[in-house]
Amino acid sequence: MTSNTALPASLPPSAVIREVGLRDGLQILQRVVPTATKLEWIRDAYAAGQREMEIGSFVPARLMPQLADTAEVLAFAKTLPGLVASVLVPNLKGAERAIAEEAHSMLVPLSASHEHSLANLRKTPDEVVAEIGRIRAARDAAGSRTKLEVGLSTAFGCTIQGQVDEDEVVRLVQAVLDAGVDAVGLADTVGYADPQQVSRLFTKVLKVAGDRLQCAHFHDTRGLGLANCFAALQLGIRKFDACLGGIGGCPHAPGASGNVATEDLAYMLASMGVESGQDFGALIALRGKLSRWLEGEQLHGTLWRAGLPRTMKQEEVAA
Ligand SMILES: [Zn+2]
Repeated sequence: MTSNTALPASLPPSAVIREVGLRDGLQILQRVVPTATKLEWIRDAYAAGQREMEIGSFVPARLMPQLADTAEVLAFAKTLPGLVASVLVPNLKGAERAIAEEAHSMLVPLSASHEHSLANLRKTPDEVVAEIGRIRAARDAAGSRTKLEVGLSTAFGCTIQGQVDEDEVVRLVQAVLDAGVDAVGLADTVGYADPQQVSRLFTKVLKVAGDRLQCAHFHDTRGLGLANCFAALQLGIRKFDACLGGIGGCPHAPGASGNVATEDLAYMLASMGVESGQDFGALIALRGKLSRWLEGEQLHGTLWRAGLPRTMKQEEVAA
């Protein structure tokens, strides 16, 4: 592909957008999206060029009926060649299912906020770290190849606790690396981060995690999602979670936007010459379907409304 401007030396040539709409997006909605619709979403997203998707969560169905069909959705996702299918697992029980169903990757959330961890899981962060050690042991005992990732949630602040100490984030990252995880990511679960804070915290965590710090997860609650992605990209981070149509919302801010919108992030990356393999026509068409599937829900993002600029032709960005 071509680009209008020379690449700043600091930007990587390519980046991965992991679609998390089927998990982070759908879990907050009241409605239960039918399994067949989820499979159509995955099929279309794959056709649009998406190669990593978090497709659900192994949590008890009574707690999250929206994601009760995760095993079935995962089985379908695994039939698509080259698609990396990950699932969220809150504990050892969920991890055992992810291992049994041979998910490519399982992601364990770990709240950097002590209060958030207690409120959500009734466990302290260090108790979750111990559970992550047990998950690693279970994976090894099973001879499983499922990748073990940890997402440090509320890493940039917390609606319950307020400030989250950056040294505490670094300490927990070191603890889960010691527990044997393959990769870590930093998540701004509630949309508190700003780009300067992102640069600072990612720089600190890169010092202890190196190339095992792989993913950035930003919510666009206060409109800084893309700016935060750019700040992480400048530090060489090459994987970003995003939701088509920016769905997901924030449980503490009704009506607020959710994750960074997949299509807007793909546009920002392409505009800067960072390859992410997305076909914009296909993405926008899928967004149209999503708006019908989720009729009555508010979708977010801007690219779908304005379209690509004339300076960026589809055949150049889709190649
Ligand atoms: Zn999230």
